[in-house]
Amino acid sequence: HSIPSHQNEDLASRTPPYPKLLERLGTVRKVLGSSRQLTLAEKILYSHLENPEESLLSNTNNGRDIRGQANLKLKPDRVAMQDASAQMALLQFMSCGLPSTAVPASIHCDHMIVGEKGADTDLPNSIAGNKEVFDFLESAAQKYGIEFWPPGAGIIHQSVLENYSAPGLMMLGTDSHTPNAGGLGAIAIGVGGADAVDALVDAPWELKAPKILGVKLVGELSGWASPKDVILNLAGQLTVRGGTGFVIEYFGPGVQTLSATGMGTCCNMGAEVGATTSLFPFSPSHVPYLYATHRGPIAQAAQNIASLPMAQNLLVADPEAVYDKVITIDLSTLEPHINGPFTPDLSTPLSKFKSVVEEKKWPTTFGAGLIGSCTNSSYQDMTRAEEIVKQACAAGLTPKADFFVTPGSEQIRATLDRDDTLSTFSSAGGTVLANACGPCIGQWNRTDGPKKGEANAIFTSYNRNFPGRNDGNRGTMNFLASPELITAMSYSGSTTFNPMTDSIQTPAGPFKFSPPKGYDLPSAGFAEGKSELLPTPGVPDPSVEVVVDPKSTRLALLDPFPAFPNTEFTSLRVLYKVKGQCTTDTISAAGPWLKYKGHLPNISENTLIGAVNAATDEVNVAYDVDGSNMGIPELAKKWKAQGQEWLVVAEHNYGEGSAREHAALQPRYLGGRIILAKSFARIHETNLKKQGIVPLTFANESDYDVLSACDEVATRGLLDTLRAGGKGEVELVVKKDGQESVIKTRHTLSQDQCGFVLAGSALNLLARRGRE
Ligand code: SF4
Repeated sequence: HSIPSHQNEDLASRTPPYPKLLERLGTVRKVLGSSRQLTLAEKILYSHLENPEESLLSNTNNGRDIRGQANLKLKPDRVAMQDASAQMALLQFMSCGLPSTAVPASIHCDHMIVGEKGADTDLPNSIAGNKEVFDFLESAAQKYGIEFWPPGAGIIHQSVLENYSAPGLMMLGTDSHTPNAGGLGAIAIGVGGADAVDALVDAPWELKAPKILGVKLVGELSGWASPKDVILNLAGQLTVRGGTGFVIEYFGPGVQTLSATGMGTCCNMGAEVGATTSLFPFSPSHVPYLYATHRGPIAQAAQNIASLPMAQNLLVADPEAVYDKVITIDLSTLEPHINGPFTPDLSTPLSKFKSVVEEKKWPTTFGAGLIGSCTNSSYQDMTRAEEIVKQACAAGLTPKADFFVTPGSEQIRATLDRDDTLSTFSSAGGTVLANACGPCIGQWNRTDGPKKGEANAIFTSYNRNFPGRNDGNRGTMNFLASPELITAMSYSGSTTFNPMTDSIQTPAGPFKFSPPKGYDLPSAGFAEGKSELLPTPGVPDPSVEVVVDPKSTRLALLDPFPAFPNTEFTSLRVLYKVKGQCTTDTISAAGPWLKYKGHLPNISENTLIGAVNAATDEVNVAYDVDGSNMGIPELAKKWKAQGQEWLVVAEHNYGEGSAREHAALQPRYLGGRIILAKSFARIHETNLKKQGIVPLTFANESDYDVLSACDEVATRGLLDTLRAGGKGEVELVVKKDGQESVIKTRHTLSQDQCGFVLAGSALNLLARRGRE
């Protein structure tokens, strides 16, 4: 596989800095003692520490209790950003006044492309509709030396796997499914834009040292079971909170049997259980994948490292490495699974799905089957689905449900086109959408007609299925499954159809699918695709001007948030008490709102509009002190105008879902100072601190019941805690009906994060340091 010219030039910047990492690993071994056995995640993370001694020894019982204790100050190798989150990341980066990014970076235009009729019409329409934003991103990329992947070039995680991910790499991505790159042995972590800015300006990026959850794979997949089923099953075992604070590290003999892209799928959906990231060790299938994607020299370098003595082998775990927890999955007995609706951890084995549908009275038919996306559009996925379509065509069947295919990148699209896979889908009635997120992120002009709120089902091979995510209809139940299973089920249109056991009637008699077969990699190599969809080179050009029109409704330069007052908060008010699930979609909805990602005042109009009022069960109905009611953003704006700062009270896993930093920026912009919850999702908790909002958890969860909307709240101990770098306790004094009660809270503020809050935001601090 020869290296295309554009990649040849860039291969140096795409190769992890192996000599430096090996040297660091040596330092880490010295600091911790040579007998200390390390997991793979520890090897890669600790080799990216700015100062191993400081991070690994302070507050960790002399290096014995690093996991869950140490604050790691890391220097990632690379940053990737998608178009929706890149806007705010770049606006923040620009306010630091640097001429170029400190590490290689890429921008991928994928989230803002609507899916409807097919790539040929959808893509030009979306480009026209978002021109101002794409022009902004492209000009900023050129100015600061960021590789720019234009609209239609592919979905961030697929492009990253094909071009940037590599064994031993550490990268940050401004998207929660960044861990997809772990399929190729990288530590890849989803973050908000402010965190990405740390790496872009060469400031260390801080992470509480994660615990390590080992997933031991034994046996080998066969028949209908696919890598997707590994993670669907694991999500069921762990639940949406089970991975919080952990890196999921796969190991065991079953690893050797998986394709590189299959491993990517497993890592992608580790985001659904809240894991910091997921990764696989360097494996036999990585080598042909790296060669096929024109990165032979990286494969060779990785093979060289893998042949070093174990003490220097950066790319696999030490043989006696100890995991904080181990889950074993036997691939040989693994059944296909279907997860959903409304939450990715509601996992049902295929054999039981029919009875669960009947018991729960879920719809027995479904309107659309959607395959592909960043999660499942590999050559293996698509050729397995293609084989199902061919079986059905030979039996004279046509899909009963609408059938959509989203290729993850131009490279995979062009390859599938050349190999006639796409024409097989199209001639069966399928619609091939643009190489972009489309329906996965609510950019779906759905035309098959269920009314808003009406219960209906769809099946997708995507990763996330919160209410309203795909078509803006909270009645739509999105069931997650492998592409091959969805393809087969689309021919029956029935949610209770089990292609492993059931038949479909045809004029020639009953037809039953055989288990799908596919190919891990294309025998003729990957096609390069359209040259206009290749990235621009990552070389800075200071002469480029980045223009933001002051009258724009899509982009607005950022004003710094005010610093923390020199006093405690004396009269915050509870803006809203949220009941139940509160995801980043709840706090900052996607779909049509994506167009305002670069305009903080405009996108703030959607703040918390999906949140359920704990007192009344209404969605997006907030009550002011005088009893009048209005939408949550309206009340927040009214209070902001009055100078009334506020807090939100919420339940568990507040901010689960994505890395969307707007879910922190918007409340901050509107006057939010504290979020008080039973627990937080990791990325969101960090995002809040970066934007100067204090996330607090209840010391006693039952205190959630003490608070109501509009209660007046004062802080006690917060200022001292911030000034003491996180050492101290914070209490909230709640005043209502002339009475005061005290709520004890917990926090996870590190010294650096206290600095962010005191300065008003992390960016304020970075900008101040830049000026000093
Ligand atoms: Fe795009 Fe969906 Fe993947 Fe996110 S999960 S990157 S929205 S395809």
